[in-house]
Amino acid sequence: MTAGSVTAGLPAAADADLRAAVADAELPPLLAALAHLTGSPLPADLRPPTISRLVPQGGYSDRQQDQAKALATDLLIALRDGVPPEAPASAANQRAWLLETVRFLVGDDAERYLPLLMDEVAVTADPDAPAWRRDDLAPGRPFSVVIVGAGMSGLVAAYRLGQAGVPYTIIEKNDDVGGTWLENSYPGCRVDVSNHLYSYSFWPKDDWPQYFSTGDVLLDYFRRFAAEQHITEHIRFGSEVVSLKFDEDTCTWSVQVRGPGGADVLTAEAVITAVGQLNRPSYPAIAGRDDFAGPSFHSARWDHGVDLRGKRVAVIGTGASAFQFVPEIAAAAGRLTIFQRTPPWLGPTPNYHDPVAPGLQWLLRSVPGYAQWYRFWLFCSSVEGMLPSVHVDPDWPVSERSVSAANDDRRAELTRYLERIFAGRPDLLEAAVPGYPPGAKRMLRDNGAWAAALRRDNVELVTDPISRITRNGVQTASAVHDADVVIYATGFAASDFLVPMSITGRGGTELHERWNGDARAYLGITVPGFPNLFCMYGPNTNIVVNGSIIFFSECEARYIVGCLEGLLAGGHRAADCRADVHDAYNVMIDAANRQRAWGASSVNAWYKNALGRVSQNWPFTLMEYWERTRAPDLHDYELL
Ligand SMILES: Cc1cc2nc3c(=O)[nH]c(=O)nc-3n(C[C@H](O)[C@H](O)[C@H](O)COP(=O)(O)OP(=O)(O)OC[C@H]3O[C@@H](n4cnc5c(N)ncnc54)[C@H](O)[C@@H]3O)c2cc1C
Repeated sequence: MTAGSVTAGLPAAADADLRAAVADAELPPLLAALAHLTGSPLPADLRPPTISRLVPQGGYSDRQQDQAKALATDLLIALRDGVPPEAPASAANQRAWLLETVRFLVGDDAERYLPLLMDEVAVTADPDAPAWRRDDLAPGRPFSVVIVGAGMSGLVAAYRLGQAGVPYTIIEKNDDVGGTWLENSYPGCRVDVSNHLYSYSFWPKDDWPQYFSTGDVLLDYFRRFAAEQHITEHIRFGSEVVSLKFDEDTCTWSVQVRGPGGADVLTAEAVITAVGQLNRPSYPAIAGRDDFAGPSFHSARWDHGVDLRGKRVAVIGTGASAFQFVPEIAAAAGRLTIFQRTPPWLGPTPNYHDPVAPGLQWLLRSVPGYAQWYRFWLFCSSVEGMLPSVHVDPDWPVSERSVSAANDDRRAELTRYLERIFAGRPDLLEAAVPGYPPGAKRMLRDNGAWAAALRRDNVELVTDPISRITRNGVQTASAVHDADVVIYATGFAASDFLVPMSITGRGGTELHERWNGDARAYLGITVPGFPNLFCMYGPNTNIVVNGSIIFFSECEARYIVGCLEGLLAGGHRAADCRADVHDAYNVMIDAANRQRAWGASSVNAWYKNALGRVSQNWPFTLMEYWERTRAPDLHDYELL
């Protein structure tokens, strides 16, 4: 379909083209967008029965799908032919209209979800933009911020500060922006959350090439964002923050930086750490790692200079990264040996590697508002996501099998999927069925590529524990596996928050000494005794079965900027989180995490720190984090 002359907001297209486009559409949000554009009513019998992301087309029956397609095509034809859209008369009407459409999609929760959804899909232009400017609140008062890290989180913080006119500098140890998406250049690296959701709510992109785009596409997105929003010019690249020290007399932070020109110290009224959770590669504690004679590298430090063609390659680990790159390198390697400690549960995702269907792509670009309603739809399905199926039922015999009836059903369903993809290979199936409840470790998206790689003649899956790395390869209890190259797909030191920076707060307290290996923060953002220090993607802000990290970082940025507004408007120098508020919050988080599959299971997972506490995960819905971070309550803080 070609975009030609524009009629009533829709590019010219033949009826047959419109029909073909609708065949590729996600129907419930398309009906919502078209009803919103044309003012036509939404038929009650086309209300989607569910918003579960596991069920396509909102659970429409075949008959409903045909009916929805016919209605959507008629409305598109009418729009193309210039039927004037019915504009609502007033703002009150607008809201009522919107609410009716939201109710069509999500049912009775519409009223509760409307503000959040309006935020998330930015129906109105960027509702989170600060409604204040530093010069208006505190003219002439020196106030600047240092942001540590120019990944997705640091960039959104910078954007919000820029909107409020607060001067800031970003210190970034790499030579480019993007963090995760810069560093993970391994073959097949891609996002696991639909791109139409894994993107800033206020900076949409309507031409994602794939439903789950590759790392280079994401890197380009963040690069363009930083450049177009003039954030890049505030970044000091190739510079690492070594230490942060709070001066109680001046209520400022001294930021010690190691950069290309040597050491330097910056002073700022506030510091935002945006250093990521998955930023420091973790290597396994296996004896002999340095003995290996050939090239070896971590998946997040992929050595593109090593040609894997025809080589004997050993891959250690079967987590998210291995899962993505093994299918990419399996054909080229001479022999591929994969060492598995714990198998992942696989979530069937047939379109995982697919380009966005051309009809859907066209509709997203051409139908005004469809991209927002499409995102809205994806978002609705991820507010809870699979959270209900990982709740521990106190009346259920909790074991490494399952934690509730719903969790047990999920196990049965996912096991059936494994049986299907490993049919005829009982050896692989036995190794593939996890011995822990679904949700206790990160579940991976799968379209069959993993099983296809494992079935290859040149690929072997080894489940014997590794006893050591030798000069020539990997040794297990029962065999020696010679290798030319070793790739560590062993994840990140996720629970070592803010490492290796030294951070000194009030009374000379060092943050890591305080945490003693058990990082905690209020809302994942503030820590008592460390005034005006704000974390992004901090403790207990990781989500694994619902939503995207971008949603959390946007919430955090709004909260942090809200704190700064309170400081500037109230004439305060700094805000220090109250210990009682912090502690009560953490008691609540811990209690909830114990009631999730990842807290109840004893399986090894990066969600837990060395002390066994779940220090990564947020145990509730997206809605709950959004509500808690919507606006800071300064009573939670001692104001200095
Ligand atoms: C392979 C992979 C796939 C992922 N897929 C998904 C997904 O599908 N969905 C999802 O929601 N999340 C996913 N994540 C999580 C991902 O990390 C977040 O979505 C997001 O990129 C985090 O952004 P960030 O800016 O908080 O951290 P990062 O992207 O890690 O960026 C942190 C930045 O801080 C810099 N930095 C660190 N320490 C210092 C210092 N002392 N001084 C100066 N600079 C410093 C780093 O160099 C880096 O640039 C994935 C992670 C990985 C590793």
